[in-house]
Amino acid sequence: MTNLCSSARAGFAARFGRAPDGLWSAPGRVNLIGEHTDYNEGFVLPLAIDRRTIVALAPRDDRLMRVASSFAERTVELGLDDLIPENLADWSAYPLGIAWALGQFGADLGAVTGFDAYIVSDVPVGAGLSSSAAIECAVAVALNDLWQLGLELRTLALAGQLAENQVVGAPTGIMDQSASLLGRVDAVVFLDCRSLHAEVIPLGCDPAGLDLLIIDSQVSHAHSTGGYASRRASCELGARLMGVPALRDLGVSDLARAAELLDDETFRRVRHIVTENQRVLETVQTLREQGPTAIGALLDASHLSMRDDFEISVPELDLAVETARAAGAIGARMTGGGFGGAAIALIPSGLRPVIEAAVGAAFTARGYVAPVMFVVRAADGAHKVE
Ligand code: ADP
Ligand code: MG
Repeated sequence: MTNLCSSARAGFAARFGRAPDGLWSAPGRVNLIGEHTDYNEGFVLPLAIDRRTIVALAPRDDRLMRVASSFAERTVELGLDDLIPENLADWSAYPLGIAWALGQFGADLGAVTGFDAYIVSDVPVGAGLSSSAAIECAVAVALNDLWQLGLELRTLALAGQLAENQVVGAPTGIMDQSASLLGRVDAVVFLDCRSLHAEVIPLGCDPAGLDLLIIDSQVSHAHSTGGYASRRASCELGARLMGVPALRDLGVSDLARAAELLDDETFRRVRHIVTENQRVLETVQTLREQGPTAIGALLDASHLSMRDDFEISVPELDLAVETARAAGAIGARMTGGGFGGAAIALIPSGLRPVIEAAVGAAFTARGYVAPVMFVVRAADGAHKVE
């Protein structure tokens, strides 16, 4: 964190020739359980992780926005009067898209000042850990302060989602931004994606001697295209044919009727969502009553449902999950939108070297690119750092 902060300060000074007014930070997230349930108005259980994006920012006297990132050589400039989604592209669509989206949620963009912003991050990009929400939420809390908007965290989450949907063009739900804004140390965020009611639930990994191991398969995923959009379409079709506003409204007892009414593929998509919602609720209850050591079977069942019913896994993720389980993980599942990205394994801390070695060896044996493995801890959500 300290290193990241000093590189944010140094980078800002190098690009803009002055010191920033402040530093704001937001974490990436990993989803413990509840996959593709968010846009079905169901339940998710993510946590903010100790990988963060920092934005160093200072206001300008004029109406120009200048954004720069350690990821990109070019500094992108845009006037506030030209701030429409059509003018935004590439990585700068994330920070500038947030500025636009805040306007949709009440910020008077005709009256605010411009700013200079410099962004650094140690959230891996494209690994399913939502570097996109981290950058959106860091900029959102920074602009909320700079422009004295006084918007609530839940509104900032909606602004992040709007930017991602309308500006970036990725049809994602509200989960990533909610986790990045609301997360807490050693806790998960239980989010009802219909009411947007959020509750912080103790995870208890530290006292239980457990670690959350991320196994980044190095297979890159593409959110805005292909599989993700088609899964959303299947869910919408399933809900329409079942006569409910969203799949959230179906329970396990509706599955027999769904099997009769729907074609096989749509049925399996629906079954994943219905059972996954149920698993999120059971995970919350199990965490409360028994602690994290008891949630392994729920994580395992979630993976199988994504592999077989929702069909969003890839062989690398299946191998990571199976190998981690065989080597002593309490439970494991792929996480994130699918088609690549990462798996998580809940592991006894002492077994970490054994499990990492087993997964590494299994990937080598299949001729896969070596996975990148690291432990994450549940961390606090977005805030002003200094
Ligand atoms: P992820 O799963 O990591 O969220 P996405 O494809 O949704 O993957 O978002 C990654 C994109 O977000 C990057 O390609 C880049 O455009 C943008 N991004 C994320 N972090 C940064 C950063 N620190 N600086 C600039 N752009 C970033
Ligand atoms: Mg993303």
